[in-house]
Amino acid sequence: MKNEDYSADDIRSWIDDDSSVPSADLFETARQVRKQHCGDVVYLRGLIEISNQCSCNCLYCGLRHSNENLSRYIMSREEITDAAKLVAEYGIKTVVMQSGESPLISAELIEDSICAIKELGDIAVTLSLGERNFADYDLWLKAGADRYLLKHETANKILYRKLHPGASLDERLDHLHYLKSAGYQTGTGNIIGVPGQTTDDIVNDILLCEALEADMISISPFMPSGNTPFSKVQPADADLTLRVIAAARIYLRDVHMPATTALATLLPDGREAGLKAGANVIMPSFTPLQYKTEYLIYDNKICLNEEARRCLTSLDLTLGSLGYHVSGERGDSPKLAIR
Ligand code: SF4
Repeated sequence: MKNEDYSADDIRSWIDDDSSVPSADLFETARQVRKQHCGDVVYLRGLIEISNQCSCNCLYCGLRHSNENLSRYIMSREEITDAAKLVAEYGIKTVVMQSGESPLISAELIEDSICAIKELGDIAVTLSLGERNFADYDLWLKAGADRYLLKHETANKILYRKLHPGASLDERLDHLHYLKSAGYQTGTGNIIGVPGQTTDDIVNDILLCEALEADMISISPFMPSGNTPFSKVQPADADLTLRVIAAARIYLRDVHMPATTALATLLPDGREAGLKAGANVIMPSFTPLQYKTEYLIYDNKICLNEEARRCLTSLDLTLGSLGYHVSGERGDSPKLAIR
């Protein structure tokens, strides 16, 4: 629903370099909005990075096709199911299957894996597999998939083309519209701090999320990867990233927003800071150890050598110290009740 209380100028005033709104006040408002529209709980999503195959060459991403320094893998249905069983054993009610964008990852593998995960109980399945054929989206929806995350990355068409050789924002939006109309709870989001991005671009990112009626928004800081054209670019500004999370929460209200692993890599207390700025989702990785180290979208990613169990223990401590309650629910989109 369109936000009648705030405008693009308000969003700009929250994230401008010379903003007169102190970060602490902005974050406090964001937390109040989160509580009102999403409750005061944190949702966990068990992330399984099922493949690092990718046929794209996004300038900022370590999984890009031209990076020959990765050992490429595709997990089998059995491996995906075993990882999902672990997610279920921890009482987490969402499995996220994520990969690069590649025809080598067969639609049938995804279909079979969704069916196997659904047999584990009342578990929501989120897919984040890039742009695929519309027929694939239909197939997976029929198999039981619930949500699809496809970040638009930037609402600036020219910047989008520069960052994603051979791709266009219009095509990406076609996919997002299709996913929504097909019945997926749909997620999108942007990346903060890529070269060439302006404050107005970020404002437009948030407005685009509103226009798409997104159910989930992932706002992540740019982090350089050594095997990309952006290897020497500085990471995103942490305060700006947090202010954008807060601005998105205040403006968009009833969306699920993760405190991303990239944010936790940028800042030692990144997950905590993200939650304090209005995020309400954490996505601990359940990718098997032998694959985790090959899923390197950016450098110095945290928890690479840790079993899910150890990551979850430190996460429990963080959430406990903040006084957050972890929900035992699936955490479907708050917008579902309205639709
Ligand atoms: S951002 Fe996604 S599509 Fe682009 S190179 Fe990385 S994994 Fe591939």
